[in-house]
Amino acid sequence: MLEWGGSAWALPYAVRLVFTAFYMSLDSLHAPAAPPIADTDIASLRQRLQEARHVLVLTGAGASAESGVPTFRDAQTGYWAQFSPEEMASEAGFLAHPQRVWDWYQYRRQLISQVLPNAGHVALAQWQACHPDRMTLVTQNVDGLHQRAGSAPVLCLHGNLMENRWLLPPKPCCDARFTEGDAPPQCPGCGNYLRPGVVWFGEALPHAALQQAQDAAKACDLMLVIGTSGHVYPAAGLAHTAARGGAHVVVINPEPTALDGVADICLRAPSAQLLPQLLSAQRSPH
Ligand SMILES: [Zn+2]
Repeated sequence: MLEWGGSAWALPYAVRLVFTAFYMSLDSLHAPAAPPIADTDIASLRQRLQEARHVLVLTGAGASAESGVPTFRDAQTGYWAQFSPEEMASEAGFLAHPQRVWDWYQYRRQLISQVLPNAGHVALAQWQACHPDRMTLVTQNVDGLHQRAGSAPVLCLHGNLMENRWLLPPKPCCDARFTEGDAPPQCPGCGNYLRPGVVWFGEALPHAALQQAQDAAKACDLMLVIGTSGHVYPAAGLAHTAARGGAHVVVINPEPTALDGVADICLRAPSAQLLPQLLSAQRSPH
């Protein structure tokens, strides 16, 4: 799921283009299934996972869609359909209508609380637990499903919808314990708002998470690109960085993606189906 984040280079028109491409890629998730994947490809990749020094995993909207998480657009039905994404996912939109935007995020939190991590999330979490120093898990999704599956740490490039943070840098008076009720939580001392911990239009991605992801892209020798259209940067740039560094890049997605060209192999399957086959019962050789 994408909230949208851009960063310093994300001009409004560019963000709209990215949104359009992102929505188109989501539509492609509903296309007919691809032919089955050869057992030799599965065996070969299992071997690579066994031998890899460091594995970088990037997940996108497709991984969440397999759990039934409604996308931003899918959730924006009924009453919510009258508002633009910018009105619902920008600081300006929040300041103009704090209650409306807060209600929108509370509504989506409720939708997400009704779904569960899928077998792909679980397989990644189990592999990460068995090989804690050999995997960096990066996600574009904001739903917290990797964390609910047990993954830690998770580098959330677009933030986490299930968390809040202060709109302005907190002062000593700002204490989240003072806030309650249906209104957007506000510090009684200075009026500072709590806001959803997601990256909104025109905002920079979390610096530390992005830096760690980019470092992992340079250092990894195997990268799994899972359930992402490959249109959204800088996340998609991680695959280019990994490929330039000589890593073996694997795209796992039911449909073609914009990153297929940099991949050494593209496996056309849902991640919930494929990841358990790839990651199950792998012991560390180290
Ligand atoms: Zn305060």
